[in-house]
Amino acid sequence: MHSRLRIIQGDITRQQVDVIVNAANSSLLGGGGVDGAIHRAAGPALLAECRQLAASRGGCPTGEAVLTGAGNLPARAVIHTVGPVWRGGGQGEAELLASAYNNSLQLAAEHRFATIAFPAISTGIYGYPKAAAATIALRTISQFLQQHDYPQQVWLVCFDEESYRLYRQHSEQADDGG
Ligand code: ADP
Repeated sequence: MHSRLRIIQGDITRQQVDVIVNAANSSLLGGGGVDGAIHRAAGPALLAECRQLAASRGGCPTGEAVLTGAGNLPARAVIHTVGPVWRGGGQGEAELLASAYNNSLQLAAEHRFATIAFPAISTGIYGYPKAAAATIALRTISQFLQQHDYPQQVWLVCFDEESYRLYRQHSEQADDGG
């Protein structure tokens, strides 16, 4: 695994990093899962900013990412990205999931954020199989880190034990070259 990548188990809203990533939906107007948790912890300022973005640019297409402030969160900013809904794997889901990670990392790099924390995008309500999503997340982030100096550290924050176990397994396999 890349030395600038960390896998932890916990609640992303509590992480002391420069920027946390939200697995948002295209409307940017809030939802369940990690999106709901982030909005609850950040407070109404975040929703107000998201509403403005939704009005000015019509939300955020799948695979893309937008930046906002962080309200009451310990982080300095939030990157909202939209992962794909799993529809069986034949609808470009893998590419869209990789784009969600890549565009978030690109935005963090442009803003010179040193530390970024990601949830397991698309693996909750959007139904992406967790093992396949873990492979894409680890591969996409490792490739990005090899090519960029920023962000300096990426944290993968697993909420549930299963995601944590899968991320660890997959990162060990990558270390073995398999
Ligand atoms: P999506 O709609 O992209 O599937 P979800 O929020 O439903 O987004 O789920 C994405 C992942 O975020 C899931 O693995 C879920 O367990 C996880 N998750 C939910 N709440 C939190 C949280 N507070 N911190 C980190 N991860 C979370």
